[in-house]
Amino acid sequence: MKSNQNIEKIENILSNCRKALLVGHFNPDGDSVGSVVAFHHYLNARNIFSSIVLPSKFPDYLEFLDPVESKIMVYTEHRSEVSEALAQADVIVCLDFNNLKRTEQLEPLIRESSIPKIMIDHHPFPETGPFDVVISETEISSACELLFKILCQMPDVKGDVNNLSIECARALYAGMMTDTNNFYNSVYPSTFEMASALIGRGVDKNLIQEYVFNCYSEERMKLMGHLLKDSLFLLKGSNVAYIMLSDKDKKGYNFSSGDSEGFVNLPLSIRGIKMSALFTENISPEETNIRVSFRSKGNWDVNRFSNLYFNGGGHINASGGRLYIPFDEVPQYFEKALKEYLDEK
Ligand code: 5GP
Ligand code: MN
Repeated sequence: MKSNQNIEKIENILSNCRKALLVGHFNPDGDSVGSVVAFHHYLNARNIFSSIVLPSKFPDYLEFLDPVESKIMVYTEHRSEVSEALAQADVIVCLDFNNLKRTEQLEPLIRESSIPKIMIDHHPFPETGPFDVVISETEISSACELLFKILCQMPDVKGDVNNLSIECARALYAGMMTDTNNFYNSVYPSTFEMASALIGRGVDKNLIQEYVFNCYSEERMKLMGHLLKDSLFLLKGSNVAYIMLSDKDKKGYNFSSGDSEGFVNLPLSIRGIKMSALFTENISPEETNIRVSFRSKGNWDVNRFSNLYFNGGGHINASGGRLYIPFDEVPQYFEKALKEYLDEK
C-alpha cells in the first residue's frame, strides 16, 4: 500500500481516538524508548491521551526521555495498570519491532485485543496479520527516523518540523542517534536531513550525547577494562571475536541495566574482525538465560545467524537473541553454530 494511504488510515484512526496504548519491545533500547516517547508527545499536542508500556525495564541512561506527565509503565512491574490502560485504549501503536513475539508476556493481551493496531518498524519480514496498518521500511536508520517521516506527513504537521513539540523532536533525535551509534552505521542521506531539521527545531544534540554516552558509572568503565583484558576471545582462523559477560562479573562490578551498552561493538575495532558477539549471563527473578548480541560488517548476516541458532533476529549487521544453556557451554555452542553456518554458505 502507498505510504500516503497509510498516513490517511493513521489519521482516520487517530481522529476517532481518545486514548492510545503505545508499545515498545522487550529489552528496550534507545530507538524503542525514543519512538514510543516521541509518539506520546505528538499525541499530547493533539490532546489525545496515551500510555506507554514496555515489556521489560529500560536502561537507566534513557531515564531523561521518560515523560514527566505520564511515566512509562513496565509490564512486569505494572500489570494491573497496563491491563486497565489497554481496556480503555481505542488504538494500539507498536513501534520498533516486527513481530508481537517481541513483546513477550504482553503478546497474548495485544493479540486478543480487537481495537485497531498500527505497526511502525524498520526490521525485515514484519508480521502483518494482527495489524490494521503496517508501515515497515528497512532502508532507513531507525524506527525514530521512520516515525519522523510519518509525522512530517501528518495533516497537522504539514511537513514543518516546527509543528512538532520540542519533547517529540528530542525523543526522535535520541532514538535515531542511539540506533545508528551516533551516525556510525545504518545512516542514509535522509538520516542527516532528519538530524539537520531536528537540530534546526532546537534539539540540543550535545546534551543528548552527554546523557547517552557520558553518564556511565566508574564501575562500568572498569568492567569494560576487565572484559577486554580477560574475557575477549578471538577465534583463530576466522574474523570473529566474542566477549563473555558472566553473572559473577556483573555482581563484582555492581552492574546496572544498560551498563553493557556498546560492549558488543568493541571487538569490531580490531583489524580484520568482521563479526562480534556479546554473551551476557542473566540470573534474576525476571529471566534466567543468556542474552546474545551480534554486530557485523558488510554482508555477514547476523539476523539470519541469530534466527537460526539463537532464538532471535534483528538486522543484517545488528541482531540479538537468547540461549538457554549453561554459560560455560556457550563458546562450544557458538563455535559449532558458526562452523555450520559458514560451511552452509
Ligand atoms: P541488541 O544487540 O542491541 O540487543 O539488538 C540489536 C538488534 O537486534 C535490535 O534491532 C533488536 O531489536 C534486535 N534484537 C535483539 N534481541 C532480539 C531478539 O531476541 N529477537 C529479535 N527478533 N530481535 C532482537
Ligand atoms: Mn530500532
